[in-house]
Amino acid sequence: TFVVGENCINCKHTDCVEVCPVDCFYEGPNFLVIHPDECIDCALCEPECPVNAIFSEDELPDDQQDFLEINAELAEKWPNITEMKDSPDDADEWDGVANKREKLVK
Ligand code: SF4
Repeated sequence: TFVVGENCINCKHTDCVEVCPVDCFYEGPNFLVIHPDECIDCALCEPECPVNAIFSEDELPDDQQDFLEINAELAEKWPNITEMKDSPDDADEWDGVANKREKLVK
């Protein structure tokens, strides 16, 4: 599966959802997740992310392994998103900020 990692938090560009052939992205207040049982590993979304927040499970950094569980858990809870929408006004300011996981709104 592919996994949305920490750098999506508060950036939430939605370029990824537009290309997903199986519509397996789900949207929370300030983060997106991929449903691990629905993702078909096509890899189309990975290069679309402007902040490089999407990883294949195999390449997920060691310090973001908890995002596997976070994606699985929140994909069951949040609504599906299939169309691109405007990014938050301050998205660029949050790109690359450390310890954003504290800001994740579930
Ligand atoms: Fe969707 Fe493909 Fe990305 Fe999986 S890898 S979330 S199927 S675009």
